[in-house]
Amino acid sequence: MTNYPNMFAPLDLGFTTLKNRVLMGSMHTNLEEVGDWYRIAEYFGERAAGGVALMVTGGMAPNVEGGVFPGASGLFSDTDIANHKIVTDRVHAEGGKIAMQILHAGRYAYNHKAVAPSAIKSPISPFPPAELDADGIEKQIADFVVASECAKQAGYDGVEIMGSEGYFLNEFLVTHTNKRTDEWGGSFANRMRLPVEIVRRCREAVGPDFIIIYRISLIDLIPNGQTWEEVVTLAKAIEAAGATILNTGIGWHEARIPTIATSVPRAAFAWVTKKLMGEVSIPIITSNRINTPEVADSVLADGCADMVSMARPFLADSQFVAKAAAGKADQIAPCIACNQACLDHTFSLKTSTCLVNPRACYETELNYGPAETTKNVAIVGAGPAGLATALVAAQRGHRVTLFDMADKIGGQLNIAKQVPGKEEFFGLVEYYIKMLEVYEVDVRLGRRAAVDDLIDFDEVVMATGVTPRDPEIKGQDGPNVVNYIDVLRDKAPVGNRVAIIGAGGIGFDVAEFLTQQGESSTLNLDEWKAEWGVGDPAITRGGLAASGPKPEAAARQVTLLQRKAQKLGKGLGKTTGWIHRAALAMKDVDMIGGVNYEEITSEGLHISTGEGRENPRLLEVDTVVLCAGQLPERGLADALEAKGITAHVIGGADVAAELDAKRAINQGSRLAASF
Ligand code: NAP
Ligand code: SF4
Repeated sequence: MTNYPNMFAPLDLGFTTLKNRVLMGSMHTNLEEVGDWYRIAEYFGERAAGGVALMVTGGMAPNVEGGVFPGASGLFSDTDIANHKIVTDRVHAEGGKIAMQILHAGRYAYNHKAVAPSAIKSPISPFPPAELDADGIEKQIADFVVASECAKQAGYDGVEIMGSEGYFLNEFLVTHTNKRTDEWGGSFANRMRLPVEIVRRCREAVGPDFIIIYRISLIDLIPNGQTWEEVVTLAKAIEAAGATILNTGIGWHEARIPTIATSVPRAAFAWVTKKLMGEVSIPIITSNRINTPEVADSVLADGCADMVSMARPFLADSQFVAKAAAGKADQIAPCIACNQACLDHTFSLKTSTCLVNPRACYETELNYGPAETTKNVAIVGAGPAGLATALVAAQRGHRVTLFDMADKIGGQLNIAKQVPGKEEFFGLVEYYIKMLEVYEVDVRLGRRAAVDDLIDFDEVVMATGVTPRDPEIKGQDGPNVVNYIDVLRDKAPVGNRVAIIGAGGIGFDVAEFLTQQGESSTLNLDEWKAEWGVGDPAITRGGLAASGPKPEAAARQVTLLQRKAQKLGKGLGKTTGWIHRAALAMKDVDMIGGVNYEEITSEGLHISTGEGRENPRLLEVDTVVLCAGQLPERGLADALEAKGITAHVIGGADVAAELDAKRAINQGSRLAASF
């Protein structure tokens, strides 16, 4: 009996069969821009070997004007085709299938050559697009056709035509961005002409035995988005034009509703795909926040789709499907949907990787092969840095002992998981518990490791983490002052009016924790939809609820403060910072920058502004929470050094500034790969 019968059912496409119902969705990793095609081949090859039925590449521009940014990868020359062939050959050698995504960015192009149905600048690119004339539109169609022919020549099993997320084809569909009065604008029949024509002509060019996936926007989540009737009309026309599969797109990039962040409930949009089931006869794929085999199988069992798309989970674990098939789902490294090492990197023009798996996109240089000599390794600290070191060292065959003075592993991960919207951290800690057991790490908890405990080891690793920084504010020893650990871990009592000192990642987390009323909306889809204003696209255009966002009232009145005179939350994740700011704004959190902390008294927090300490003011609050950053905890490392024992110092114990789990896990994994 297969563990996940729906997920592992083959899918017959007529001319070819997919071995299971799992698609690795398109992700732009910036690997193509690095230009090392053997590295790209290894990245996809490892995932093909891991059993996924079909993969989709990152978006390839069909022409220069459609590139997401100047120099974005595309398929233009014989050399390009030969390079892509290195990848497709590698994937086929592993028994996999791969389709190339054709992505025309339209008005989202970060590119002064950007083109669009109408000359309307997008809020997320500084470049106003030029309006295409009739010849220009013909050229775009021809370029899509050439791209699909080149993809076939390069050995791809198919193409995915990107028609969602607010890119070029999506822009034609709605009056928000299409103000044309010719045959490509006006009525919906005219507005949908371009995507349908592109699918029809691509099919004509590539012949019948080639997969064409069309990524259709099912819920635009923008003002004046498509109606459900329009979505269904388009889906039927795309099927008739020759598409093999419909994949789901959710929300435009400019939408102000989160669609894939960790605070979005799992499978939050599967219900939208389900509405389309039965309207067309080709297979439909659902996507967004599906990150475990259980969730994937259950959305299929519920009839939400014929197939599931997961993208980031394949960065976290290339062997996702193989482990699920082998009954080892609890050994799958979970994608926690943080975006920190994938999308945040992509949008900073850095190579993507994964917070929980630093090997992602580094498959040719970071490997965990068997160690030449088996060593006894001691690791002090079972937070992210220590856990990653322990796991990789043990996987390589070392004998590992892991010490932590807490009575459970996880370190700061256990603090993060308390925050509403960060429940995925529970799964990450569970994963490490399981993997330490599988690789027989000797875990010693509940006692502070001493120098004598560490003498007989070949390698000693200090991953002792951080301690809260002392902000040295007058009155901070008062009974009305606590720090973030007291609040998040020890559940210290906190009054109704709160001032939070420090607006870094932890200050924001504490504000979300203290304003949350009852259960986190991440665990309650209906509540989450109401909170962000997601409606049924059959009732309201684009799926924006007519009544707008309806957040729950805040549990407390919170003021978040920092000394820097800049926007609060500027240093948060590039693709997620806006969500944290919006979430706190919905809870009426007052955000104040540019302050001096004068004194804490029983009345509250006294502040002033500017170098001249002007505008003295009392914030009348019941509790002040200190979230003023962190310092390295390296007392034991110093004691070891005094005894002549050299330890590797990693994670927060090494550098506390801007420490996050991404850097900790990366550093620990790379260290353990080196000895
Ligand atoms: P942080 O990001 O460095 O923020 C520390 C805050 O404390 C800043 O707002 C800083 O602002 C303030 N501060 C610094 N020195 C102070 C002093 N002497 N007195 C008063 N205030 C002071 O550190 P964190 O919030 O502790 O977060 C630690 C790490 O965890 C961060 O690197 C963060 O990336 C990571 N994290 C990330 C997330 C996420 O959502 N991605 C969530 C939680 C944690 P001023 O100097 O302007 O006052
Ligand atoms: Fe998932 Fe975070 Fe890894 Fe991206 S970096 S794949 S969101 S765990």
